[in-house]
This record gives sequence, structure tokens and C-alpha cells, in this order.
Amino acid sequence: MPQTEQQLRDDIVDVGRRMSEKGWIAASDGNITIRVGEDRILATPAGVCKGTLAPEDLIVCSLAGERLEGTRPPTTELEMHLTIYRTRPDIHAVVHAHPPTATGFAVAGRPLNLGLLPEVILCLGAVPLAEYGLPGTPALAEGMRPYIPKFDAMLLANHGAVAYGENVFKAFFRMDTVEHFARITLAAELLGGARPLARVEIQKLFDARGRYGLNASRNHYEPGWPLAAEDVPDNAEKIEITREQLVAIIDEALKVRGVY
Ligand SMILES: [Zn+2]
Repeated sequence: MPQTEQQLRDDIVDVGRRMSEKGWIAASDGNITIRVGEDRILATPAGVCKGTLAPEDLIVCSLAGERLEGTRPPTTELEMHLTIYRTRPDIHAVVHAHPPTATGFAVAGRPLNLGLLPEVILCLGAVPLAEYGLPGTPALAEGMRPYIPKFDAMLLANHGAVAYGENVFKAFFRMDTVEHFARITLAAELLGGARPLARVEIQKLFDARGRYGLNASRNHYEPGWPLAAEDVPDNAEKIEITREQLVAIIDEALKVRGVY
């Protein structure tokens, strides 16, 4: 049964509260929109904490960005949302936030593009990094443009992340997957480095996406998205030694050179 606009307003309030509770947004960060009609977008207003929104705080605007209903100014990052809606008719909700670990990767200039976890490959494939663009200007959407047709979430360089889907909870859960994946990748790096799956295993997961009806338009695996084990060969042979063994090796080398 299609939801009423009032129910969709409640959904935005709910997702805003969840984003705030998860620590993905500070102060008045982040924004959420839902496509409620052919030329009708329900959007969060600018300068308001998204954790304590009321349904009547939301505004309605057109796909061209004109405010149709509501008294508050629309989110300053509205153009980012509208660019996604104009490019992807299948998308009905967009969520933007600054989740700390995913944003850490975005600030470090690193996409989440390793094929590490079956669930992430099934859900997102990979999470690219869009080039930096000044927030609140068309430059922000410009950097995202190349990735919108093929990906359902991306990092925004020196800024945050955006995720989108058929409804606002799909978009929210994709953002949740991005942040969780970022945390796991970081943990793996602290433990010596993440090891991607082999290309053949990633291909099997992409084939499964087709069977499950997930993102049917983008089930073709393009090598490199995500990177497989073959794409990141571990050339440097690593060995482990204790401090005592290291001192003994240095001592021996100095003795041989006649330093002692
Ligand atoms: Zn932002």
C-alpha cells in the first residue's frame, strides 16, 4: 500500500533521530529527502538538528529546487539530492551524513573499494570516493556525477557520505553498511591489512545479486569495483621478529663491519 505524505514525513523524522543517535551527524549536519511525486521532493530544512525534527519542519520542493511548501529554507545540500533523483528514476530517497569512520576514509582520500565482505559486495559492490566540491555549491554534485549511475552509496572527499535507495530506510541501511564496512576495514588495517577475496569469488557474489534481484541493472562485475586479491598483490614479503632478535641482528652486523 503506498504511504501517505504524512507517513513519509514521519519516516524522515525517524531516520533523522536514528542518524543522530548513531553519532553520524553533529549540530545541524546531514540531510534527508524523499521523492513523493513526479516533481515533488520532501526535504529536511537547513540549520536544524536532524535528531529532533518535527514533521511540520520539513519543506517540499520541486526537482528544479524551488520551494513549494514550508517556511524554512531547504537544506543547503539540496542540489546533491536533486542530481541523484534526476539521474536515477529508480531512487526515491537520499540520506547524507558525516559518519566518523567513513568520513575518516573520505578525508584520507581513500575509497572503500576492496572486495572484503560478501554482504557488502552483495549490497553495495564498492563505495567510490567522489572528488571534493564546495558544500552548498554545484561543484559538490559535479564530483558525484560519474558514480551515481553505478553505485548506491559513495564517500564525498573531505566531507562525508551519501546513500540512496528505493525508500528512505533502504537509503539509511546502506549508509549503515558503509559506516560498518569502514570500521571493519580500519580494524583490519590496524591488524596488519585487509585481504580482498579472489576475483572468482567476487564474480560469484555478483552473479548471486542477479538471482536475488538486487540492483538488477548493475549486476555486471567490472574488475576493479571492488578490487580483488589479484588487483592488490602483496609484493612485500613480511616477517616477524622479536626486539631481542632485532638487536642481535644489528649487533652482528656492527661486529662484522668492525664497529665494535
Ligand atoms: Zn554534509
